[in-house]
Amino acid sequence: MPDPALPSNVHVSHHPLVAHKLSLLRGTGTDTKQFRELVRELSWLLGYEAMADLETTAAPVTTPLEEMSGERLGPKVGLVPVLRAGLGMVDAMLELLPAAQVWHLGLYRDERTLKPVEYYNKLPDAATVQVCLILDPMLATGGSASATVDILKAWGAARIKQVSLIAAPEGIATLSTAHPDVDIHVAAVDRELNERGYIVPGLGDAGDRQFGTFAGPASEPGHGPDEETAEVVRRLQQRNVPKERPPVR
Ligand code: URA
Repeated sequence: MPDPALPSNVHVSHHPLVAHKLSLLRGTGTDTKQFRELVRELSWLLGYEAMADLETTAAPVTTPLEEMSGERLGPKVGLVPVLRAGLGMVDAMLELLPAAQVWHLGLYRDERTLKPVEYYNKLPDAATVQVCLILDPMLATGGSASATVDILKAWGAARIKQVSLIAAPEGIATLSTAHPDVDIHVAAVDRELNERGYIVPGLGDAGDRQFGTFAGPASEPGHGPDEETAEVVRRLQQRNVPKERPPVR
């Protein structure tokens, strides 16, 4: 069901299992193992929804009783996990699509220019898939998501979808403005980004919570923002994102 307050390319799951699992995922009582399991289960459910419009072609099938016309998935699909938090979404998607190719991408934000910079990209010269699913649990500022789409479009991907567990309104605005043709599939759109670039209420750091890498105060809410992140968030918030928006599920 489309949400009239969101661009038409944004698809928020309304499945009760998604709502249930996402609430468990957010909670501080969820340990690393449970967190990884929930990321996997949510990815499966969101992946199922995100692939609902993939084309099929007719293919003959011989059942034990007779010949019939069946269907085969048409496009070649590539999974593009964004390092490192996107890694936890890959296995679930491969359960759905065992033949999918997996192309990892790594990006960080340059401290001087505030622009995302690629640090890992082994894409071959020309696209080997028609549909790309970008996997990143948190669509926060939208900066790396937009840069990832730029990379995949330049590669030659015909169709691109972003699959995230939680999005911030700022991230949706950035990605939808830069790439209105990219479908965004999420379990929830939260209220806002805080000054540290964390989605609120969110779930904290999706990478740390999946991989058990809690480095101390710098990775915890309440620690002061680094100037670079604070600047990106200030810039995004000065744009046209309405405040006081209730979470959408
Ligand atoms: N990345 C995360 O892991 N969490 C956020 O809230 C935002 C970006």
